[in-house]
Amino acid sequence: MKDKGLLLVVSGPSGAGKGTICNALREKFPNIHYSISMTTRQSRTGEVDGTDYYFTTNRHFEELLQEDAFLEHAKVYDHYYGTPKKSVFAHIDEGNHVMLEIDIQGAMQVKKKYPQGVFIYVVPPSKAVLEERLRGRKTDSEEVIAGRLSKARQELDWIQQYDYVIVNDDLHEATARAEAIVLAEMCSVDRNGCRIQQIQNMYQ
Ligand code: 5GP
Repeated sequence: MKDKGLLLVVSGPSGAGKGTICNALREKFPNIHYSISMTTRQSRTGEVDGTDYYFTTNRHFEELLQEDAFLEHAKVYDHYYGTPKKSVFAHIDEGNHVMLEIDIQGAMQVKKKYPQGVFIYVVPPSKAVLEERLRGRKTDSEEVIAGRLSKARQELDWIQQYDYVIVNDDLHEATARAEAIVLAEMCSVDRNGCRIQQIQNMYQ
């Protein structure tokens, strides 16, 4: 018997820095499997199909929905996003850790199905900082930025549903906190029942 791997679910408004934190976690823990989402939005410059996302059409996405192919899915900014079911639980059952970087709607669906997951919310230290980061990216119009700020405000009401919050005031610190959370969860007694049993058996 093997202990199950962790299911790490990371959410936060765009501009919170969750992508950077997730990348740092992947570097620090190369054995974390990063789930690649499927989306119907256009790929951005530099994004690679099958690496950043699986890019697809509305029609194909809706077909897959009918086939119950997603662990969770949501419409974010008018586009579909979903986590393909395939492989998430296979990895966890094998004792491998899996990380999902998904929005709140999706995270709440996962929480219902798998409350043992570790739910982490990354939040910018202030509205002003978020605004500054969104403008600094120079990728979005004023209208889009306003929409993202308003969404960020609404989403704050959901933080209580998460297990951990990381206030990203300093990227280095925020990454260290994320690593600490993952390490602590990896060491939890509840999550190491089989390992503990094996060690106990050695004394019999
Ligand atoms: P972006 O288009 O900027 O890459 O992502 C927009 C939002 O969609 C982000 O909050 C991101 O976390 C979320 N997202 C990405 N993949 C998924 C997914 O598979 N499911 C859900 N529910 N949200 C996702």
